[in-house]
Amino acid sequence: MISFADRIQLLGTENAFKLGDDIARCEQSGIKVIKLNLGEPDFDSAENINRTAIEHINNGNSHYTNPQGILPLRESIARQVYQSRGVKVDPQQIVVTTGGKPAISYTIMAYVNPGDEVIYPSPGFPIYESWVTFLGAVPVPLHLEEDKGFRFDADDLESLISPKTKVLILNSPSNPTGGVLTREDLEGIAQLVKEKADPNIRIYADEIYEHILFDGHQHQSLLSIPGMAEHTILASGHSKSYAMTGWRLGYAVLPTVEEAMVFRQMNINIISCTPPFIQEAGRAAIENKENEKIVRAMVAEFEKRRDVVVEGLNQIEGIHCNKPEGAFYVFPNISGVCETLGVLAAYEQLPDEKKQKTSPATLFQMFALYHHGVATMDRRSFGAIGSEGKHYLRLSTATDMESLKEGLRRIEAASKDNEGFGKYINTGEYLS
Ligand code: PMP
Repeated sequence: MISFADRIQLLGTENAFKLGDDIARCEQSGIKVIKLNLGEPDFDSAENINRTAIEHINNGNSHYTNPQGILPLRESIARQVYQSRGVKVDPQQIVVTTGGKPAISYTIMAYVNPGDEVIYPSPGFPIYESWVTFLGAVPVPLHLEEDKGFRFDADDLESLISPKTKVLILNSPSNPTGGVLTREDLEGIAQLVKEKADPNIRIYADEIYEHILFDGHQHQSLLSIPGMAEHTILASGHSKSYAMTGWRLGYAVLPTVEEAMVFRQMNINIISCTPPFIQEAGRAAIENKENEKIVRAMVAEFEKRRDVVVEGLNQIEGIHCNKPEGAFYVFPNISGVCETLGVLAAYEQLPDEKKQKTSPATLFQMFALYHHGVATMDRRSFGAIGSEGKHYLRLSTATDMESLKEGLRRIEAASKDNEGFGKYINTGEYLS
């Protein structure tokens, strides 16, 4: 038997990737799966971005580089932060990373001791809960409710802040709900932080969906709220805005240069540096004006798809879906389907050790995948702690309109297939 360290059991995951094994199994059995599980634009990165990287590789720009990130890219990011948020940051406060993800672990590693508390949104990006738990911090989920549009305000947060709160994580626009915090929400949070939190608190503002907003909304950033720059770690990146998921490019803007040096040291220990030709392409993404048009067209397409999917979901009996204001996800409530399809009853019948690893929404998710060929994500995959009794799915709308419409048809068929669900439960296969 392999003797792993004890902590390995605490490491969470991102099920949107893990579900790939189930999808592959379905496809091997001949089912063509509609994939609404992964959160990545179905658009390719722009030609001008691709060309820049190729030119740099061809010109020999393929060596180690500054672990903090190349200065020209950090200068571009600083300019963009100033233009979008009205806050001047020194490029020395910026650290470039391989995607948006590393800054999450760097933050928990840099500021949080075992036993300290971290508040994070739930449902939220699962990597927050994963790192908090893995590093022995106390997870304090901030539950986001459907009837508040998956936003939260100062009152919701107040009871969770304690003298042990070291880090507060915010994510707007949100994965998985598409919820967007307003300027007033952010002002309320800022006021509360000033009044109640430890003066050294750090707020991790994950704004990776900052360009993906609908209905004419403008992005509101915590960094712009007076008094917040000294607390805020602004995290963003190129994956979503410029359809560059596979390139692995992100960054963090730290409150001080001293903190940026710690993140730089994390890079040295873990990745050495982000590939220089990718950083050059990332700089082109920001600097080339052509990309503003390309991003606007992509966002307009996401908005059209959101409208179709939300309307389609709300026509299915037993499903209710809010209209998200940003990102490319919808987060329907499937309580009604869980009731009428017998999912809740089936869940109750499961042995306790199985129950702990699954949920009614997970049972429906797996049934919809294996019997109806549509891949979605369950609520539990976005923060398991305190998710009991919450019956939701996340669907990504970052796929073409025809697939989305077919996905809706399959979800509807699954929601009415009592006989099929009964068979699925009786075979006991792939229950979690
Ligand atoms: N934060 C949020 C909220 C996300 O949804 C994602 C990606 N799904 C990330 C961070 C990580 O982005 P990246 O792929 O650039 O690492």
